[in-house]
Amino acid sequence: MKCIFCGNSESKVVDSRYLKDTSIRRRRECLKCGKRFTTYETVESNPMVVTNVDNVREPFKIDKLTESIKYATYCVNLAKSVEEIVNSIESKLYGLQKQEISTQDIVRVALDVLMEVSSMACLVYYTQHTDCNSFEDVRNFLNR
Ligand SMILES: [Zn+2]
Repeated sequence: MKCIFCGNSESKVVDSRYLKDTSIRRRRECLKCGKRFTTYETVESNPMVVTNVDNVREPFKIDKLTESIKYATYCVNLAKSVEEIVNSIESKLYGLQKQEISTQDIVRVALDVLMEVSSMACLVYYTQHTDCNSFEDVRNFLNR
């Protein structure tokens, strides 16, 4: 963070104050000119954009993912909660380090995570989110 008075990039924090849970205000003092200025830090919220098959872009919606996981795991006994599964998928998606992800990325990551939890849930999700039309497709998927 450069000093707004002299442009020096080194400063020390003289005071920090939480504004909300996600925001912090810092009072800084420039190590060169000694003048003080204020910076604000906030947590970045959902910067990911999802591109669907029709090339429509929309913000990544965690609720949509949660609904699809709830559906896929409806009749399945799980060792993990839906929330844990969704969190795991979300962090893997952010781990891709892409600003723009496709719906296929989401499906692929969700299937990987579900596979570790329940093959049945994985299969339900697969039939819901891919254009699988036959038992042959499902068998190919299970053998991949
Ligand atoms: Zn300065």
